[in-house]
Amino acid sequence: MLILLTGGAGYIGSHTCLELIRRGHEIVVLDNLSNSSRESLRRVQEITGHTIALHVGDLADPEVVREIFSTRRIDAVIHFAGLKSVSESLRNPLKYYQTNLGSTLALLQQMESYGIKKLVFSSSATVYGDPCGLPSKEDSPIGIALSNPYGRTKSMIEQILQDAAFADPLLSIAALRYFNPIGAHESGRIGEDPKQEPNNLFPYISQVAIGLRPKVSVFGGNYPTIDGTGVRDYIHVMDLAEGHAAALEYLKPGFDAYNLGSGCGASVLEVIAAFSRVSKSAIPYDIVAERPGDVAASYADVSKASRDLKWTTSRSLEVACRDAWAWQSANPTGYVDNG
Ligand code: NAD
Ligand code: UDP
Repeated sequence: MLILLTGGAGYIGSHTCLELIRRGHEIVVLDNLSNSSRESLRRVQEITGHTIALHVGDLADPEVVREIFSTRRIDAVIHFAGLKSVSESLRNPLKYYQTNLGSTLALLQQMESYGIKKLVFSSSATVYGDPCGLPSKEDSPIGIALSNPYGRTKSMIEQILQDAAFADPLLSIAALRYFNPIGAHESGRIGEDPKQEPNNLFPYISQVAIGLRPKVSVFGGNYPTIDGTGVRDYIHVMDLAEGHAAALEYLKPGFDAYNLGSGCGASVLEVIAAFSRVSKSAIPYDIVAERPGDVAASYADVSKASRDLKWTTSRSLEVACRDAWAWQSANPTGYVDNG
């Protein structure tokens, strides 16, 4: 297949590029480089020996998308592009609604004009909010009492995609609800490269381990969990990349949502301990107040993805720590942007 990856230069997109090329697909990337650089894709090319066509532009600009769809016969789109910071979305909600909803609508309109019927969308476990039961299942209610605009954009986009698939029976759409993506490609050549102070736990720990930050603030030590700290379902980014390829190759007419996670929870202190063991460095931390809007625990029921997509994770938390550490120690300040 010839696949367009919106946001394909970013963290999850670049790892998915690698996996799709490995499986023999051809790819085109559209990215405005607002949270990434050309260097990630240059390195994917270096690893795979394949050239990637990169269009630098904004997905919300219909001309940019038209240019791609009118000159190439795209079979399917994987839609990663979007803004993803929970805290920024609370400060600047309109920017999040404008970017995430606006660019998705623009993409869907162009897909309709050019008769492109296959779409895989980056959704998030955040659509479950504070789950009423664990593990979270795809048929659990979504979009209820979400604590931030970022999560609401994901839930709203899922609703839009369901409506679009209902109206056009030829559309095949999978929304992939990622749990907590972590780690890096085993080569250590590509990985997560936050442009600002990381919001997420894993890149924060990596930066403490390498000495860029003094210590980790553990948000809350009194949750009803194994050790009082928050529990999440961490998934190696290459397992996630394989999940995208499986979803793409499985797509059926209609709309379907799939949890992509490991199915197991790990606490913040367990993650810090695992990273410490692998990096052979003490990772200083302080337990501080809970972060507003955080839930105590979240982990996935992955039986639907396993049954339909024939996909499960194969990499442990330790392997993710090893690969993240290989990436972080070889690239202490991330990618050097060559413009
Ligand atoms: P990322 O920021 O590394 O990648 C997103 C990419 O989209 C970036 O390269 C950015 O430059 C690009 N982009 C943003 N707005 C754009 C626009 N209007 N036009 C063109 N390109 C644009 O993020 P990521 O971690 O790779 O996440 C990819 C997707 O997965 C996002 O939609 C995110 O919300 C979702 N997701 C991520 C996580 C996570 O923890 N990383 C968890 C759940 C869901
Ligand atoms: N967390 C933390 N310190 C940090 C960042 C996160 O203790 O600097 C905790 C957070 O409270 C949650 C877990 O780590 O329990 C994962 O948080 P992250 O932001 O990575 O993912 P999300 O909350 O979106 O699942």
